[in-house]
Amino acid sequence: MRPRMRMTAVAAGLALVAALAVTTGTAAASNAPAPSPKQEPTVQAEYFPGPAAEGRRVQVPATSPYSASAPAASSAARSADAAAATDGAVTVLSQTGPSSARMDVAIIGDGYTADQQADFLADARARWAEVTAVEPYRSYTGLFNVWAVGAVSAQSGISGDPSAGVVKNTALGSYFWCSSTERLICVDLAKVKSYAAKAPAADLVVVVSNSTKYGGAGYSGLGSSYPFAGVSTLSSDNSQSSLIAAHEIGHSIGLLADEYTYDSYGTYTGAEPVEPNSTVRTAAQLTSAQAKWYRWLGESDPSGGTVGTYTGSSYYPLGVYRPTADSLMRSLSTDKFNLPGREAMISGFYRYASSLTAATTATTVSRGQTVTVNVAALAAGLSRLDLRWYVDGTEVTQAKGLTSVVPGQLGVTADGRTHTLMARVTDTTDSLRDPKAKTAATDTLTWSVTS
Ligand SMILES: [Zn+2]
Repeated sequence: MRPRMRMTAVAAGLALVAALAVTTGTAAASNAPAPSPKQEPTVQAEYFPGPAAEGRRVQVPATSPYSASAPAASSAARSADAAAATDGAVTVLSQTGPSSARMDVAIIGDGYTADQQADFLADARARWAEVTAVEPYRSYTGLFNVWAVGAVSAQSGISGDPSAGVVKNTALGSYFWCSSTERLICVDLAKVKSYAAKAPAADLVVVVSNSTKYGGAGYSGLGSSYPFAGVSTLSSDNSQSSLIAAHEIGHSIGLLADEYTYDSYGTYTGAEPVEPNSTVRTAAQLTSAQAKWYRWLGESDPSGGTVGTYTGSSYYPLGVYRPTADSLMRSLSTDKFNLPGREAMISGFYRYASSLTAATTATTVSRGQTVTVNVAALAAGLSRLDLRWYVDGTEVTQAKGLTSVVPGQLGVTADGRTHTLMARVTDTTDSLRDPKAKTAATDTLTWSVTS
């Protein structure tokens, strides 16, 4: 994570879900009926009824009926010593840089016993590989750190699998048939928070539940009491479930709207949506206002077809538009973000990550001292990182691309003055067109050079 940007991301995330009710169970006024003492807090969760379906959103409990009632005696049934040794163990799946300059993802297992932790690690790797096979994740994995948190469950498998009446005692209480919906895997969010805290500075959480059955969910609008941007759940051994996480991270990191609709919602009459992929404006109006995705209008889109303004978005079939006919933010029948979505995702990565970090951490160096930087190793694909060096604001062109330089060799003379050395990495990807997004994808480091 990038602490400086964290508040921005959280604030934007809250704005995204401002319309979503979060019930706390607290009476609003003194003359209101007394709340039930058993009333549980609820949050919004999104699920996909099938592997190629459009999503749905429902209100679900923040707690799990299974983890909450887990019998304490069950711990006697497992190997207590083995569980104590491994519960919450953190394994590095991918570490590409310091957490301060990376988007940190915590993948937590549920329904794995102490003896099944190797299975969990294999499943976590496999599902994350599927998520990051989708662009723009694929090109930008060098901006992510991925941590696996091995939660030890008393029993193998999760509640509701294979059928609704099955109850399992698991570390996070994840379960199918949440809100009477088979495909919806809910989880105990307090336990998610507790296990996620074991990984360094998690920005995103993915819960991998031990099951072969299709399913998952995405939580949003969790509020500031959760230190990460989103939580996705998915089945461990069902590769069709991986696109659920790819979609949900679109909300958490790209701050994207759902592009699917409910017939019952009718015509949207509200203000311009805050999300970058939803608008009340027509293509002509976008262009004249230079708003939203006007820079992409008419382009051939990876999801198929041409970028335009297609009727129906943000749950409303009328009165609001989306950029393309289909996309990963509309249904899981495609694994493609559209071009505006792709731009929003890359911008989101750079809110949490920086492509440039200092290997030389001193801020003042001498003219004979070697200064070294690390540039994120991004995959060949969408990204185009360009490293350049500047002395007193003027580029030293022969140093382009060098990750180690000596200021004296870049023209800093022994004149007794203090000079400024700057390294700048720009991402010149074709996938960013918004100048603000391009600026956010540019990272600089500076040093004072004593001569
Ligand atoms: Zn969604």
